[in-house]
Parts: sequence; C-alpha cells; structure tokens
Amino acid sequence: MFMTRPVEELEKGKWPSYVTEWKKAGYTGLVEIYNKALEDKRTHFKHGGMVGYPGYDAGVIGRLSDMPEVLGSSHIFRIIEPAGWFYKTESLRKVVDVWTKYGSGLLNFHGATGNLQLVGVETENIEPAFEALAKLHYDFGGSGGDVRTLAACGGPAICEYSNIDTLDLYQVLTMRFIEDIHRPRFPYKWKIKIPGCPNDCVAATARSDFAVIGNFRDAIKIDQDILKEYPEEKILKVVNKCPTSCMSYENGKLDIDMGNCTRCMYCINEFPKALRPGDDKGATILIGARARGRIGAFLGWTLIPFIKVEAPYTRLIEIIVGIQDWWDEIGNPKERVGEAI
Ligand code: SF4
Ligand code: SF4
Repeated sequence: MFMTRPVEELEKGKWPSYVTEWKKAGYTGLVEIYNKALEDKRTHFKHGGMVGYPGYDAGVIGRLSDMPEVLGSSHIFRIIEPAGWFYKTESLRKVVDVWTKYGSGLLNFHGATGNLQLVGVETENIEPAFEALAKLHYDFGGSGGDVRTLAACGGPAICEYSNIDTLDLYQVLTMRFIEDIHRPRFPYKWKIKIPGCPNDCVAATARSDFAVIGNFRDAIKIDQDILKEYPEEKILKVVNKCPTSCMSYENGKLDIDMGNCTRCMYCINEFPKALRPGDDKGATILIGARARGRIGAFLGWTLIPFIKVEAPYTRLIEIIVGIQDWWDEIGNPKERVGEAI
C-alpha cells in the first residue's frame, strides 16, 4: 500500500526519476494520468487511431486518454535522425525551442528503431509543430506497415573498423525509400540497419529485417611485431577462445585459417593494434531478424555472405526491392519477412 501518491514513490531514491523530469518539464497532465494508472493498475491511454499530418500516413504515434479533463492526448513524433546520429548543437537548440513551444518539452534520444522521438504533443499542435520542424529540415520517420526509419552506426566518421561508408549508404537508402517510409503499404514493418562491421553496434543481427553488415573477405591483417607486445598469456587465451578454433600460435607467430574464420571480430577487438580487418571490404547481408513476432524472436539468416557495397548501390537496392515485392505479394497482415520466409 502506498503511503504517498504512487507516482511520488517513483521519485524516491538516489537515482534519476523520469517523474521528476516530467514535472520539471511542466508536463503535469501526464503525471496525473500516470498516477491514476498506477492506482487503477491499468493504462488510461488508448491507441490514438489515425492522427497525423496531411500527406503523411506515418510518423505520429497516436495516444488519446480517457481522462480528457486532465490531458486529452499525448502523441509521439518519430523524426528521422541524421546519419550516424550526428546533430549540430545549433540545430538541436531549435528542435528544443519547437518542442518547448508546441509539445511537452520531453525528447527521447532515440527510439529503438533509431528515430529522434519527440514525446507528448496534443492533437491541435501536430500541424504547427511539424511545420516548424520541417523548416529545420527534419522529416517524419516510419510507423506501421512501412519501411521504418533506417539506422546506421557512425562508421567511418568515428570508427577504424568500418568496412563500408555506413553514413552515405544510410542517406542514399533513406532517400530511395522515403515514400515507403511515409506511406505504409507492406504487410508489416521492414527495418534496415547498417553496422560498419560485425561488432554490430546497431543490433542489426537481432533487430532488422534486412541487415547490411560491413565485412571483409580477405585475410585479417596481422602485425606480428606489435602482437608480441601483448602478454603471451593473453594471446594464448584469445587463440583458445576463437569460436571456430581457426587460430594457432607457435614459435611467437600467429596464424589464422581464414577459410574457417567467421569474422566474429573477437580477436580484432582484443588486439586492436596488431590485428586489423582485411582490405577487400564489402558487406554481409542478413534477412529476417526481429525481436518478437508471432512465432518468437529470430536472428537474421545469412542471405549473401559477401557483396561489394559501393555508391550508387544499384545491386543492393535491386535486392531489397525484389524481396519486398515478393513479401508484399505473399505476406499475411502483421507478418514480417522472416516469418513469411
Ligand atoms: S558497428 Fe563496427 S564500425 Fe560501426 S561503430 Fe561499431 S565497431 Fe565501429
Ligand atoms: S575473427 Fe573470430 S573466428 Fe576469426 S580468427 Fe578472430 S576470433 Fe577466430
């Protein structure tokens, strides 16, 4: 039994409290609805149905409350993030101004798919808020049965492991599929994620219908002299832990049987100065992952072990469109491509 209002229980303790943040943002209507939900043990929000901006069929997640006297609606904007999630501070300050004026003042960096999420806008403010964001060159992301907002790691901008230009590919594919992001026409969602290497910092293997994972097909580059600077005990430990047992270390020399190497990145991560990805760079394509679904979670299956990925990405786009067309024909409602396969 609560001695204080249940919502205030969530402000206790040494850790940050989202309830306190809502209060600081002046979002008192949400605090009251949330408090009532905790008391009643049920949500007071219902799905908002068709709300959005004229000309767009996606990008606004509708939320209406059954307590209109407190807060009638609290919709969420999904906004396409810049490639690699790089923002100019000047631009972000303007986003903050827009959302302070028209929305709750709460931002969510970022949603699970990758979008910048602007949380809490009432129905009458959807149009002026989006028009102000559009003037800053932001656009709605995906929702429903469409191509969802893409996600790419920072790739060559921040990371020496990147095998492809994740940022350019993200930009080109986003523009190529922008109509399919804004207008749901597929059986269900279609997510594309682009990590620059198999470390997979964007969780493509587990969470994307179509994963473009930067990879290399020649040998791992080994600098035997620098490797000797690592303790031999550590070298032997990594050799023994190689998941395919394709490494050997004898007489101070490391060998890798590349025919049996899965490019898991483990040894490269352990010896970043001595081991590097090879020079013949491209990507591995996976299909069909999702975190949950009608028949459970799937990791992606390897569809193409290696493909060159270079602008203008014509072959890659043909492959995506070809699979989408097939899935669009045979997929049942709410069936991801992995389930259809
Ligand atoms: S996925 Fe690979 S290339 Fe991209 S940031 Fe992570 S380690 Fe770097
Ligand atoms: S990348 Fe993985 S599989 Fe390949 S040699 Fe290194 S640890 Fe073994």
